Amino acid sequence: MVISSTKSQTTHVKTKLWLPQQVLVTPAAEAEDWGQQIIARVKTFGIPVKKLKQNRISGLRGKNERETYAIAKNTLAIVNAPPSQLKLTPIPPSADWQFHLAQGCPAHCQYCYLAGSLSGVPVVKAYGNLPQILTNLKNYERDERDTTYEVSCYTDPLGVEHLTGSLAECIRYFGTRDNAYLRWVSKFDRVDELLDLPHNGHTRCRVSVNADPVSHSMEGGTATVTQRLQALRKLALNGYPIGIVLAPIMAIADWQQHYSRLFTEIADILNIECDLTFELITHRFTPKSKEVLQIWYPKSKLDLEEHNRSQKRNKFGGVKYVYHRDTMDKLKEFISEQIDSYFPQATILYWT
Ligand code: SF4
Repeated sequence: MVISSTKSQTTHVKTKLWLPQQVLVTPAAEAEDWGQQIIARVKTFGIPVKKLKQNRISGLRGKNERETYAIAKNTLAIVNAPPSQLKLTPIPPSADWQFHLAQGCPAHCQYCYLAGSLSGVPVVKAYGNLPQILTNLKNYERDERDTTYEVSCYTDPLGVEHLTGSLAECIRYFGTRDNAYLRWVSKFDRVDELLDLPHNGHTRCRVSVNADPVSHSMEGGTATVTQRLQALRKLALNGYPIGIVLAPIMAIADWQQHYSRLFTEIADILNIECDLTFELITHRFTPKSKEVLQIWYPKSKLDLEEHNRSQKRNKFGGVKYVYHRDTMDKLKEFISEQIDSYFPQATILYWT
């Protein structure tokens, strides 16, 4: 992966921009107007686009899993979302429904939520049939109540926005709907192209942040927490509802001190009137995600010891490992107090 640097207009700090080493496009995506729009954007960065003969992505496997990871994370594939993605699934507690403008992420978080949940190599796929994806959303709206849609489950939509323009298109679309609301979250900060969009208050923009020892050493390829918060401030000043996703909350050494510092910084930067929510997500892992993460990040210091955790089973019998109840209670009490004291006007949407 090539990370190049650009200067943010207002903050004068360097921001990271993902520029893949190779971009592939399938015939089906190339036939779409939106696919053509993505190709044109990619070319403005001087990256050639290789046309594939078939609609399958192949040839991204290296000699071992590490090499496969490196090749895939250096690749953007422009493809059409499969028909199965037009059948939406609920995503509680974040939103009513999830939909996807891309799948895969250019960042390198050592606890990545995608590990073990997406099959195949971790290539970033951007969808060329976005208009079809957006039109399909109407089928899930209800006249009598608001409907919310989460678009960050399989990707970091802002992390690929400079190459796709797809998040901006989603924001424009939701700005035209009466009862439908968009939610996205990111660890990137390049928001300038989103500021003046006709969002109509129908998009809640969130950034994911964490205590310094986590963000500094476990979130490769992302913008710094300070940059993310400054981006969020800009969005709020342009009338967007905003949110902080504190995730994954980790009981690291001296966690009270580190999370306390984080809240001081959030309060310093978001010292404006805004519509602010918090989402609080503790760290968890599954046997599958542990297996994948240990291949992707063999030197990581991330705690994935089962004996430090309690087992939680879902309704299908799947296991995840979460913090023990007493640790959970302490984390929850401390973080809730921080929010109450710094942001009494904010809403905590959920703790999990
Ligand atoms: S930003 Fe999210 S999706 Fe991307 S690598 Fe980090 S955890 Fe995974």
